[in-house]
Amino acid sequence: MTDSSISRRLFLRSAAAATTLATTSLAQSSSALPNAQDAVQLPQIHGPSEQDEKAPGPFLAGDERIGFAIVGLGRLSIDQILPAFGGSKYAKPVALVSGDRGKAMKLAAQYGIKPASVYDYANFERLRENPEVKVIYIVLPNSMHAEYVLRGAKTGKHILCEKPMATSSREAEQMIVACGHAKVKLMIAYRQQYEPHNEALRKLVQQGKLGELRGFVASNSQRQGDPTQWRLKKALAGGGCLPDVGLYCLNASRFLSEQEPVEVLATINQPKDDPRFKEVEASCSFALKFLSGYIATCTTSYDVHKSALLRMEGTTAWAELSPAFGYHGNKLTWSHLQDGGEIQMTPQIEEKDQFALEMDHFCECILEDKTPRTPGEEGLRDHRIMEAIYESAASGRAVKLA
Ligand code: NAD
Repeated sequence: MTDSSISRRLFLRSAAAATTLATTSLAQSSSALPNAQDAVQLPQIHGPSEQDEKAPGPFLAGDERIGFAIVGLGRLSIDQILPAFGGSKYAKPVALVSGDRGKAMKLAAQYGIKPASVYDYANFERLRENPEVKVIYIVLPNSMHAEYVLRGAKTGKHILCEKPMATSSREAEQMIVACGHAKVKLMIAYRQQYEPHNEALRKLVQQGKLGELRGFVASNSQRQGDPTQWRLKKALAGGGCLPDVGLYCLNASRFLSEQEPVEVLATINQPKDDPRFKEVEASCSFALKFLSGYIATCTTSYDVHKSALLRMEGTTAWAELSPAFGYHGNKLTWSHLQDGGEIQMTPQIEEKDQFALEMDHFCECILEDKTPRTPGEEGLRDHRIMEAIYESAASGRAVKLA
C-alpha cells in the first residue's frame, strides 16, 4: 500500500460523507482499499541475515469485497478462477451464469453463492438488478466475448473479459466503445501481466539490467486431442493456436519490452488431412520487428507436446522464463558477466495465484477509479497484430503495422 493510495482512501471516505461521487452508480457503492496499517504483522523471530516473513493482506472484509459474476462454467472457471477467490484480498464470487443449472447450483453451494444469484444465458440481463454484482467476468468461448461484453456493459457492471479479447479487431473496437458509452471499466484478463516472475523480468528490463534489448525468443505450444472441441472451430475460436496459446508469446514480447512492433513476417501450417485442423492452423511462427532494433521470434503449435519458454536477449545480459506462461512453476534465470565470469542467477520468487492477483488489480482500479493495466486497448492491439500475422502468412510477405 502506497502513501498515495492511503491518502486517496481517506479522501474517498471524506468525499463520500460530504457529497455524492458524480461518476457511475458503481462508484457510489464501492468502498476504498483497506489501510496498510490494518494488516496483522507478527514480530520477526529470525536473525538479521534471514528473509523477513510477510503476512498476506490487508484484506477487505467480506461485505466490502467486490462481487464478481462468473459467466461460463468451463475448465478455466471451475479449475482456476473460482478457487482463486480463496487467495484474493478484495474479490468474492456472488453470481454464476451457465446453461447447465445443475452444475451451476452445485458450484453455487460450494462457493456460498445464493441460489437466486444463479442465472442462465437468456436471463443474463437480470444481473443488472443484483446489487451484489459489481463485475461481470466473461469466461466463454472466444466468439461469445463480444456479445456478452456488449450485453454486460448495458447492465452497468464493470467487465473483466478472458483473452483473446474477441475474434477480430472490429469486435474488440465495438467492445471498447460499448464499455466507454456505458461508463464501465473493461479489463482483459492477461494473467501473465500480474504474475510475479513476469513482473521480476519486466523490472530487470526497466532497470536496464539487460542493456539494449535486441532479441525475444518464445514458444508456447500444447497438443490438442478432441477434434470436436470449440477451440478447433474457426467460428467459435477465431483461429487456432495463435489466438489461444500463441497470444502469450505475442503479448509478452510487447509488455516485457514496453515497445510496439512495426512489421510482422509469419508462416503457418494447417495439415488439411488432420481432422483437428480442418478449420484452424496447427502451428504458427512469426517474427516482429520493432523500431529500436529489437526483434521477437515466436512459435506456437496445437500439435506439439506442452512446451513453454521465453528468453529476452540484451546487449549485456539475457533473462529467460523456462517454464513460462504456466499457472504454476515459472522459473526466472538471468545471465551476465560479473568479476570476469559469466554468472547465472535464479532468484527465488514467491509463487502467487495469478488469477487472484489479476482480479485484485481490477478491484483496485474500481475502488480507486483507475484504468486497468490491461484495458480493452491492450486486447485490441494484439488483435490487430494477429490479423497482420494471418495476412503475412497468407501472402508470404512482411506486413507493416500502423
Ligand atoms: P471450456 O470449453 O472449458 O468452457 C467454456 C464454457 O462455455 C463451458 O462451460 C461451455 O458450456 C460454455 N459455453 C456456452 N456456450 C457455448 C458454446 N456455444 N460452445 C461451447 N461452449 C459454450 O473453455 P475454457 O478453457 O474455460 O475457456 C474459456 C475462455 O477462457 C476462452 O476464451 C479461453 O481462451 C480462456 N482461457 C484463458 C486461460 C488463461 O490462462 N487466462 C486459460 C484457459 C482458457
